[in-house]
Amino acid sequence: MTVLFRRVFVYDAASATAMTGPLDVLVDGDRIAAVDHDLPIPPDARIVDGGGRHLLLPGLINAHFHSPANHLKGSVRSLPLELFMLFESPSDPVLAPTPREAYLRTILGAIEMLQRGITCVQDDAFLMPGPDPEIIDAVASAYRDSGIRAFLALDQPELTEAEKLPFVDELDDASRRAFDAPAPAGAHELLAAYDHLLTTWHGAADDRIRAAVSISAPQRVSLDYFAALDDLAERHGLPMYAHMLETKVQRTLMTQQPRFEGRSLVQYTATAGLLKPHTNVIHAVWVDDADLDAIADAGSTVVHNPVSNLRLGSGVLPWRAMLSHGIPVALGTDEAICDDTINVWTVAKIAGLIHNVSGLDSDDWPTPTEVLGALWQGGARATGRSDLGAVTPGMLADLAMVDLHAIAFTPLNDLREQLVHCEDGRDVVLTMVAGRVVAEHGHVTTVDETALLDEVRETFAAKLPAIHAARSGAGELYPAYQHIVRRAAKTDVGFTRWLTPLRKNS
Ligand SMILES: [Zn+2]
Repeated sequence: MTVLFRRVFVYDAASATAMTGPLDVLVDGDRIAAVDHDLPIPPDARIVDGGGRHLLLPGLINAHFHSPANHLKGSVRSLPLELFMLFESPSDPVLAPTPREAYLRTILGAIEMLQRGITCVQDDAFLMPGPDPEIIDAVASAYRDSGIRAFLALDQPELTEAEKLPFVDELDDASRRAFDAPAPAGAHELLAAYDHLLTTWHGAADDRIRAAVSISAPQRVSLDYFAALDDLAERHGLPMYAHMLETKVQRTLMTQQPRFEGRSLVQYTATAGLLKPHTNVIHAVWVDDADLDAIADAGSTVVHNPVSNLRLGSGVLPWRAMLSHGIPVALGTDEAICDDTINVWTVAKIAGLIHNVSGLDSDDWPTPTEVLGALWQGGARATGRSDLGAVTPGMLADLAMVDLHAIAFTPLNDLREQLVHCEDGRDVVLTMVAGRVVAEHGHVTTVDETALLDEVRETFAAKLPAIHAARSGAGELYPAYQHIVRRAAKTDVGFTRWLTPLRKNS
């Protein structure tokens, strides 16, 4: 298919005003073929006339996400991660999704993203109770049908709770027994699921769907399984997703779990030779300078999820130190249960603001140029694709067109500032992925959006009582997790990522 955008402004990161135009942009197949004045109209081309008031941006990249919680937005109050996870996905078998439910919840998220011009997502999908091939197929089918570009990994822990958490030896016997329960799936089963994912879906839909690998987090897997996934990543050129030092609880593991031998989760991973250029270090809130050195030396990318970090009280990552180390930073929403939108625009805004509380030296605060760089260049770097994140010939035609006559840009004072601080996705009038128009005027055109949303409402309203029942059962372990969180809060790790200084006696 050929599409000619006529008389559009084009986002240009190198320009003083961040845009050039009006110009014509020719899309041929899945790529941008030309950006120039007065391009000839090819036969059979669809013409999209920007009328000199529309701006073509690279499609936004959501570099970190978990689709299985898409139907759970707003359903759990703000809590620290370790308490939040207790209610987020109770392992009650009654909550195991049918393939249709997995399809619906996935496409619900894809619709929300495409409406807002988010064209690429890295889905670190945790499939409870286990990564059944039918459920993997349902998730990937939803991405295929929606038209979004997706990287799909299986975020499955392999170890027991007792091996993943600090201060477990201080718990009562009943809690200890619960923490010693085996993970739902072992390494052999998980690797078989990856085999299915790679064989069936890697490169599907004309390479719009790709596989990725996920260890979930270094403390949640054995080094053998970690190395097996790294081997898959190396052989197939896949990104590797790894949550690291999201919370202070995770920082305390270095002294509270003997296998880490006093090393942070970043240092433990680096020492094992498993911190790599393909690694997405997700969160990286409770990192110190030595961790940043290791991430920079490895050439890994950090994925910053500031809304999730605020929702769960995780803390604020050291933005300026990270950039000073030359570490690429990408932006992610994290999951819909802890954002609770799947909106990378608002993530960019919060990323642009939250670091201003790091101190009064405003030279250390994020600039809109840096935030937009994280959104597009950082996002592309996280996926391992060099053909995403710019509106130039040869790049993939993943585009978002916004209306410059909308309130967010009226009057237009500074495009970069207004993209970060004014736009929230509502002014995206057209979304294109791989050269195909997938959303226009706020609605997805690839699927029957109204019918799907009706089915989502009916399906998950019927499921809500079971979710509530499972959560109240899971709540029995709340005191045990709260003990761990409170013990970690009181532990002096040498620095803080919260706004308040460590109160030693609280
Ligand atoms: Zn996550």
